[in-house]
Amino acid sequence: MYKIILRENVNRYSCEGLIKIFLRPDLYDLIYAPSAVSDDFWPETEKTPARKNKDRQKYQPNYEAVINLTGDETASTDKNAVKRMLYSRLSALTGYCHEWGILTGVRPVKLAGEIVRRCGSFSKARKELLDFYLLSPEKADLILDIYHYQQEHLPKPPHESVGLYLGIPFCPTRCLYCAFTSNEAKPEEIERYLKALHREIDGTADAMRMKGWYPESIYIGGGTPTTLTALQLDELLFHIEKAFDFSRLLEFTVEAGRPDTIDSEKLEVIQKHNIGRISINPQSMKDKTLEIIGRTHKSSDIERAFAEAKEAGISCINADVIAGLQGEDENDFVRTLEKIIAMGAENITVHTLAVKRASKLVEMDKDFHYKQAAMVAKQLAAGRKLLKEHGYRPYYLYRQKNMAGGLENTGYCKNDTLSVYNIRIMEEMQTIIALGAGGISKVYYDAENRLERVANVSNYEIYIERIEEMIERKKKNLFQEEETIC
Ligand code: SF4
Repeated sequence: MYKIILRENVNRYSCEGLIKIFLRPDLYDLIYAPSAVSDDFWPETEKTPARKNKDRQKYQPNYEAVINLTGDETASTDKNAVKRMLYSRLSALTGYCHEWGILTGVRPVKLAGEIVRRCGSFSKARKELLDFYLLSPEKADLILDIYHYQQEHLPKPPHESVGLYLGIPFCPTRCLYCAFTSNEAKPEEIERYLKALHREIDGTADAMRMKGWYPESIYIGGGTPTTLTALQLDELLFHIEKAFDFSRLLEFTVEAGRPDTIDSEKLEVIQKHNIGRISINPQSMKDKTLEIIGRTHKSSDIERAFAEAKEAGISCINADVIAGLQGEDENDFVRTLEKIIAMGAENITVHTLAVKRASKLVEMDKDFHYKQAAMVAKQLAAGRKLLKEHGYRPYYLYRQKNMAGGLENTGYCKNDTLSVYNIRIMEEMQTIIALGAGGISKVYYDAENRLERVANVSNYEIYIERIEEMIERKKKNLFQEEETIC
């Protein structure tokens, strides 16, 4: 058990995020002090009346070590100075060298871009990432390389372009690690939802037209959009085509995540509407793992879905995989990737298992990601090597809370088939308009380089009931502002 004492005025969220990468929450007491204090400091309010908390009384004297960062040197105005000290103490105590240094944010590539633009050169930015943020050379090079690649292939978004997201919050069953708004719903419920979504499409399209905005990319996600019948999918795609200006559309993705929802009829619909990119998400090609994570299909269904998608002529197929799944080792992970490469995926997104609040996994083992940290690091390294050998390169990257080892998710692409939507959502320099239950739109104000969120309700039944309010909310908060978007 460790005791960590920080000054009251530190960035608590950020410091706690860093501590959690090194230590499970039950392994430390975190205390905030108003000024420099001694190692046995405990706030007065905690001491009286007579230490009500018996547990605390029991373990307080038995700390293995105390990290006390309240000395005068920690009163620095550099907000990252305390994090660097914290990093070095935690690293010395645990023996763990976190490759992302003191970075706890979810968008390291965005940060790399900001530093490059400020410093004016990649070499200066690299130095800052190493010395100031304490990144490993490999991670610093990785994010600078991805930033450079993105700049070369996808310049700044044009004025008045937006990314359009439509959510279908239904899935055949719920996966173990899932915390999304996904529901198993009756067909008539899905019909009602689609009616509401069509209304929101019309309302948004009208407002966009008046502003002269157009979609640069469209992404239908979820949930699993291919839970819809072929007819429903056809009607939805037709509706979208009718509503929006497609003249400058660069990319249209439909998530077809679960192979048990994909058939040749739906693929024909997708192909008929010229959808260039779909995502079939195996997560693993090991049948035992699929069963553990709550999938009702086998790896052979994934192979069948891939073959049918190829036959239908879909030009870009993405496949999501997860490192750190229960019972899998490095060899299992590599075998999954080998099979996906052999199936001909153009994009492969390698996720690190994250234990999310609201998932079944957190109820089973809230500390699972700590147990998987070492294995995930090996799996990601092996995956990186294999993908490179087969011509895939990283093109976007992000991190999430509670990921095993505090590591990352990386999107790889072959032959420059990068996903516009994925890059835009991470670089945060374009307005994203999200329709459907749980959709969170983000308005980008170029002049202030600022984003403002406009959220739809996440429960799909409430969304249906309050659809007119959702449309009005968008009109008021997304489309009526004076500032220009970019
Ligand atoms: S397919 Fe995706 S959205 Fe659906 S339950 Fe699984 S993880 Fe969640």
